[in-house]
Amino acid sequence: MMLEVQSNHPERFQFKVRADHRGSAPEVKMSQIQPAVEQQSGVPLTTLSEDEEMFRASVRQFAEGELRPRVEEMDEHGKFDPKLIQQCFDLGLMGIETPEEFGGAGASFFTAILAVEELSRVDASVGVFVDVQNTLVNNALIRWGDAEQKSKYLPQLASEYVGAYALSEAGSGSDAFAMQMRAVDQGDHYLINGQKLWITNGNEAEIFVLFANANPEAGYRGITAFIVEKRFDGFSVGKKENKLGIRASSTTELILEDCRVPKENVLGEVGKGYKVSIETLNEGRIGIGAQMIGIARGALDAALAYTGERQQFGKPINQFQGVQFQLAEMATQLEAARLMVYNAARMKDLGMNFVKEAAMAKLYSSRAAEKISSLAVELYGGYGFVKDYPVEKFWRDSKIGAIYEGTSNMQLQTIAKLLIGK
Ligand SMILES: Cc1cc2nc3c(=O)[nH]c(=O)nc-3n(C[C@H](O)[C@H](O)[C@H](O)COP(=O)(O)OP(=O)(O)OC[C@H]3O[C@@H](n4cnc5c(N)ncnc54)[C@H](O)[C@@H]3O)c2cc1C
Repeated sequence: MMLEVQSNHPERFQFKVRADHRGSAPEVKMSQIQPAVEQQSGVPLTTLSEDEEMFRASVRQFAEGELRPRVEEMDEHGKFDPKLIQQCFDLGLMGIETPEEFGGAGASFFTAILAVEELSRVDASVGVFVDVQNTLVNNALIRWGDAEQKSKYLPQLASEYVGAYALSEAGSGSDAFAMQMRAVDQGDHYLINGQKLWITNGNEAEIFVLFANANPEAGYRGITAFIVEKRFDGFSVGKKENKLGIRASSTTELILEDCRVPKENVLGEVGKGYKVSIETLNEGRIGIGAQMIGIARGALDAALAYTGERQQFGKPINQFQGVQFQLAEMATQLEAARLMVYNAARMKDLGMNFVKEAAMAKLYSSRAAEKISSLAVELYGGYGFVKDYPVEKFWRDSKIGAIYEGTSNMQLQTIAKLLIGK
């Protein structure tokens, strides 16, 4: 089957959904650049346009058909199935906002958020894999890349190369600008030395948006963003972390020893890397919010199904008011989190200032995901505590939401600063 959505609406993107006759997962291929900002006054935030609805349904079908059968094994072995990487490229999920002229779908930021949510509903590791590519790496290049960088790297990132975003180091997490990685100007290139830690997609990535200080005397005003390729001399990937959650997502060290990076690979201006990182992470945060509401949705769906089947005292446990209230609590928190994430994403697409809303969305949705998945574990009883059932994984996966792309305290700090005006 090949389904083509060809909207006449000038502000809608077009995309194609293809599935083979064996009933395997569909192929979602978006094409045609369009901003796709369609939210109109009077329309509920969670009401999707026809195209958004179809896109979401297609990603869900892929997640159910291709991801779900692999989730347990990938989690157990802490390894991403390479077949999925190729599928994500083939389906057009790795360049959602990338303009069509560079091989992407030219869709909205909100569309990328929908993809991350749907993937995370089944596996948050695949959710963050697609999230980092779209909301951090592609986003930084689209926003800060010059014409040559865009025409060289964006097509690669949309079609074959995984990207990663390398800011954190062993000694600099929340205090990211205290980084020790140094870039020394050598005329036509920089020599970069130092180590990065905790880099998502580190094992799979070929292209890294990486931050180093090119002028330490200037403090954070020396921080510069670079596009670094894995094949560059002096670049290597170090230890991979063995994690509590999102285990299939690789998290690695990066080691740069006299890594030679051509000057044309400076992303944005020298000394303006701090701005690149702050502004990219403001947007990326909404992606983490989407990952969290995906996890929460997965946990709630599982709990709804299980409590309808599990019998105690001669009836399904969802017939007890105590259980019903827990389900109602979970659904309410998920609804609130979704509204916050969708609102921040739509604000971003509309060019509004979304920084406070993005921080609030990440803070709240990570808390909601942790609470909802924890309640799901409890509603499964003993079965919730073992790996034969999906809910313990949702709970483990939810924990990262309070840590990466700015801890919860850092979100509170941002929100407070914007409230108080300092
Ligand atoms: C699985 C995983 C994937 C990651 N992926 C990436 C990636 O792709 N790229 C990347 O660059 N980084 C990545 N990170 C790093 C992540 O962003 C950092 O771990 C995070 O920013 C926190 O930094 P830290 O670990 O150094 O903790 P710290 O900054 O040491 O914080 C420790 C605790 O102190 C609190 N704290 C610190 N300072 C303050 C303060 N001023 N006020 C109040 N509380 C404070 C924090 O809130 C936290 O609770 C990843 C991390 C993990 C675990």
